[in-house]
Amino acid sequence: MSKNAEMNNQAIIALSEKHVMKTYARQPVAFVRGKGAYLWDADGKKYLDFLAGIAVNGLGHSHPAITAAVANQAARLIHTSNLFYNQSQAELAELLCKNSFADKAFFCNSGAEANEASVKLARIYQKQKKGEGCFEILTMEKSFHGRTLGMIAATGQDKVKKGFEPLPEGFRHIPYDDLPALAAAVNDKTCAVLLEPVQGEGGVRYHSPGYLQGVRELCQKHSALLIYDEVQSGMGRTGRLFAYELSGVAPDIMSLAKSLGAGLPIGACLATDAVAQAFQPGSHASTFGGNFLVCEAAKAFMGILLSNGFLEQVRKNGACLVESLRGLQKKHPFIKEVRGEGLMIGIELEIPGRPLVEAALAEGLVINAAQEKILRLVPPLIIGKREIDEAIEILDDVFARASGGAAG
Ligand SMILES: *Cc1c(COP(=O)(O)O)cnc(C)c1O
Repeated sequence: MSKNAEMNNQAIIALSEKHVMKTYARQPVAFVRGKGAYLWDADGKKYLDFLAGIAVNGLGHSHPAITAAVANQAARLIHTSNLFYNQSQAELAELLCKNSFADKAFFCNSGAEANEASVKLARIYQKQKKGEGCFEILTMEKSFHGRTLGMIAATGQDKVKKGFEPLPEGFRHIPYDDLPALAAAVNDKTCAVLLEPVQGEGGVRYHSPGYLQGVRELCQKHSALLIYDEVQSGMGRTGRLFAYELSGVAPDIMSLAKSLGAGLPIGACLATDAVAQAFQPGSHASTFGGNFLVCEAAKAFMGILLSNGFLEQVRKNGACLVESLRGLQKKHPFIKEVRGEGLMIGIELEIPGRPLVEAALAEGLVINAAQEKILRLVPPLIIGKREIDEAIEILDDVFARASGGAAG
């Protein structure tokens, strides 16, 4: 088959509407090229990308280290299955373990799958440790853990569950950042507590100081495992390699995905040796999981993340962006709160976010809304002062027109 002629936005949209299932309310733009923090659509318009593929493209677009790693590996060997050993996978596992609480990694292809692995590992571990009835996983209200049947059951938002019942049993939701609620719910039959150290889809919500310490103590007391879903908050997003470093409280199991492969689809479940031994040959599997191509991309990304001064720069730029946004808050009173660590930033509004997302896109800035009234900024980790100033200028304009609209 010959390569199709290049299409404009309108043609791509028309073809998609005809043949792609409508699971997303998409913005009317089709990107065709990217470089650093910038994207170009099929009509040639340039955008500043402060969404990064939903916290996926940690190094922005077309980063030479990722391009080279993928191109070289694609020319050598892409996939052989997990029936054989794989140097790239072993090296990535070593990198992740050496830089976290973990001793072992399991690789899959997405965030939902990483969480499925984490929950399955906790279940099988506790079946051996605590016995048959100890399967309940406590998760948080407003959490998001993915779209498989298991993970919509785990997710603490009704909108993802509706219409798909019956869902797998054994999940109970409790309020986030609420130790008394957890203390009331956890008992000796609890299998695990699953939570995001920063809630992403739930509206970029940070917990209070001391919360994870309290969760850890309650888990300890009842021999429940602690699972972190760092699919969104991990891999440098908060200016630390993992968000749990902000509190220093390590989990037993942790899920990663999103930016792990710097744009390539890879997920991981990490665990301590004590817990990971519950998985034996045949327990769990993934055909594609951790193949050569995605692991080489992840290794190249981690090499840069861990290089001297990189995460420090993320913290510095994050602080600068948050400060500038708080400056905008003073000018635009419908902004209730600006919160963020590193480059995981939420802007809580008194008005719906979607029209602002659309207005920003029209002005060449890509952002999105997590929950109805919360804007989410998760730009590539490589942005600097220039990109921050440009984004602030556009947002100032978008906010000014929104207040004008609200006043008039
Ligand atoms: C995005 C996300 C997921 C789901 O990841 P998929 O790759 O879409 O399956 C799970 N947990 C969190 C915290 C996420 O942000």
